[in-house]
Amino acid sequence: MQDYFEAFTNGFLGTTQWTWKSILFEVPWYTNYFWGLIVISLLVWGLEILFPWRKEQSIFRKDFWLDGFYMFFNFFIFAIVISGIYKVLELLLGNIGVTAKSLAIIDFSNWPIWSQLLIFFIILDFVQWFTHVLLHKFPFLWRFHQVHHSVKEMGFAAHLRYHWMENIFYKPLKTFGVMILGGFEPEQAYIVHFAAIAIGHLNHANIKLTYGPLRYVFNNPVMHLYHHSYILPKGKFGVNFGISLSLWDYLFGTNYIPESGGKIRLGYPGDEALPKNFWGQLVYGFKKPKL
Ligand SMILES: [Zn+2]
Ligand SMILES: [Zn+2]
Repeated sequence: MQDYFEAFTNGFLGTTQWTWKSILFEVPWYTNYFWGLIVISLLVWGLEILFPWRKEQSIFRKDFWLDGFYMFFNFFIFAIVISGIYKVLELLLGNIGVTAKSLAIIDFSNWPIWSQLLIFFIILDFVQWFTHVLLHKFPFLWRFHQVHHSVKEMGFAAHLRYHWMENIFYKPLKTFGVMILGGFEPEQAYIVHFAAIAIGHLNHANIKLTYGPLRYVFNNPVMHLYHHSYILPKGKFGVNFGISLSLWDYLFGTNYIPESGGKIRLGYPGDEALPKNFWGQLVYGFKKPKL
C-alpha cells in the first residue's frame, strides 16, 4: 500500500515540478511543451490573421478564449491531476507482470533515428485514428466527444477543445502502440509530438491548405472542416477521422470532401443541449441524455 501511495505522490509531484520548470525555462527548450504550445499557437494564429479562409470570421472568433483555456487545461492541468493515477496503474500492472516491454514486437532501437521517428509517428497516428472512429461509433463515447464537435466557428485552438475523458480514452491504444515498439519512445520523440501539435492546430485553423497531392497523406483544414460538418452523408456516423494523417481515411474509405468553400454549418444535430461554459462541459457526458 505504501508503494502505491509513494507512486501516486511521485507521479503527481514529478509532473507538477516538470510543468513549473517548463514555465520557468528550466528544461531543455526542445522538450518545453508549455512554451512550445504557445509559440505554435501564435504562429498558426498569425497565419489565420494574414491569410484567412473565411474572411468574415473574427480574429477573436466565437469561443476563442474558451478554447485557449482548453489548450492549457488538457495539456497541463489535467496531465498533473491524472499523473499520480497513471503511476499507480503502472506499478499495479508491473506487479502482475505486465510492463511496457512485455509486448515488444518490433525492436527498432538500433535502427536509424529517422526511421524510428517515422514508425513511431505512423503507429501512434493510426491508433489515434482508430480511437477517434470508436468515439463516433459508440454513443457513450460520442457523448464525451460532442464537446469537440460543439465548435461553431473553426480556428486553431479548437484543436484542443475536448472533454478530459478523451485523454483517458486515447491512452490505452497509445500505450499499446508504444508497447509494441519495445516499450519506449525514441529519444527524439519530441519532434513527433511537436509535429502532431502543429498539424492538429493547422487542421482546425481558418486557413485554406490542402498540400496538393500530399493531401492523400496529410490531414488538412479542408478535410477536417468536413469532419466537423453538421450534416453528414446519409448512413455515416462520421467522415475524415484522420488526426495527423489523412491516409487512413483514404485507405478505409471514410474520406469525404464534396467541396472546399469553407462555409458549411458546423456542429451536430442536438448541439444546443451542450452546456456553453467550461464547468458545464467538464461534467457533461456522465449524465444520461434526456430523450
Ligand atoms: Zn470527431
Ligand atoms: Zn477537430
